[in-house]
Amino acid sequence: MRIGVPKESYPGEHRVALVPLAIPALSKAGFEVLLEQGAGAEAGYPDALYAEKGTKILPDRAAVFAEADLIVQVLCYGSNDVTGKADLALMRRGQGLIGFLRPLGSLEVIEEIAQTGATSFSVELMPRTTRAQSMDALSSMGTLCGYKAVLLAAVTLPKIFPMLTTAAGTLTPAKVLVIGAGVAGLQAIATARRLGAVVSAYDMRPAAKEQVKSLGGRFVELPITAQNAEDARGYGTAQDESFYVRQRELLTRAVAENDIVITTAVVPGKKAPVLITSDMIANMAPGSVIVDLAAERGGNCEATRAGEIVVEHDVKIIGHINLASEVPYHASQMYARNLTAFVLHLVKDGRLRTNDDEIVRETLLTDQGEIVNRRVREFFGLPELVAAREPR
Ligand code: NAD
Repeated sequence: MRIGVPKESYPGEHRVALVPLAIPALSKAGFEVLLEQGAGAEAGYPDALYAEKGTKILPDRAAVFAEADLIVQVLCYGSNDVTGKADLALMRRGQGLIGFLRPLGSLEVIEEIAQTGATSFSVELMPRTTRAQSMDALSSMGTLCGYKAVLLAAVTLPKIFPMLTTAAGTLTPAKVLVIGAGVAGLQAIATARRLGAVVSAYDMRPAAKEQVKSLGGRFVELPITAQNAEDARGYGTAQDESFYVRQRELLTRAVAENDIVITTAVVPGKKAPVLITSDMIANMAPGSVIVDLAAERGGNCEATRAGEIVVEHDVKIIGHINLASEVPYHASQMYARNLTAFVLHLVKDGRLRTNDDEIVRETLLTDQGEIVNRRVREFFGLPELVAAREPR
């Protein structure tokens, strides 16, 4: 089977789906890897490093799609709503596709992908089981986003993070509040602590408390309880508006007391809840910084504009999207590891499995012209597929 790696086409995307380090494991399993010329260059992986590992370098995108049986990408059409559509014309029936496809985004877009006849797998749908942990790209990218969010905040804040006792006096440490202590939030806590900040964090999932404390953060207790805070997959759930109103009231003081607030609160398939209003920002000290990692999903901060830095009441609100792409070398390395584990699991006897295992079933999005994923069909209110398709 031939695996094709096109160059990422989303503007400003620097990652690549496979790195040279990942090629030997794939070659050993009988795969041939085809790379679009220059696909890894922006992530720090020149063509020569791939060629050394036996990768065939092809001159353009169309050649990669034409020759490959399975296409692997970071941002596929779906998550790439700027340039991704052009790939539809290059795809063919039965061709495999793996990447970020934003399966709970636009039904119209997923239908377009289905209509190409591609057998597509969405990495966002990876189950959160021990067996699938090595394939969990959302966690890999979340970790890097949490790290990078702290660095962005650190270079923007007009203060330093650590406490310093010098001949010129004592500097007090910066205070960082992390709202949403999932994968990204936990890495933000760890990174801010390493830089010497005093860190506190809040999450509506009670399970997060111990994790925050184990990283040296203080858990902010709010006297409200979320209903069924966590779903079966471990994700936070949507709450009613009265819960969010109360959360905002209770978070006002904690937000005002901190120099930096990093927000990561999201709910799969939903617009991110607004947890910081403009009134709350008005209570923060001038020069404070908010990094809103939920910017692409509507933002946790009322003032956030995706992809921009907004200044309100002398507070900078950073709404950068796609932060993992700003550490492309390691982001690509982690993604490639996740993909390699996934591909080795998916392909059996030279063919893509489509029906016989939990990981396959949960991630398979489209096949033979249809949206076949049960969770996605349910989410969009599509009727259940009647005929059970034969396992391949
Ligand atoms: P996520 O990116 O979906 O959300 C980020 C965080 O925001 C979550 O912790 C969520 O509880 C929180 N949140 C949502 N709404 C909120 C609100 N109104 N107020 C406060 N917080 C709110 O989550 P994630 O980072 O993907 O991780 C969620 C959990 O799943 C974590 O506990 C993580 O450790 C766990 N996880 C397990 C596995 C595995 O078992 N293989 C893999 C990855 C993550």
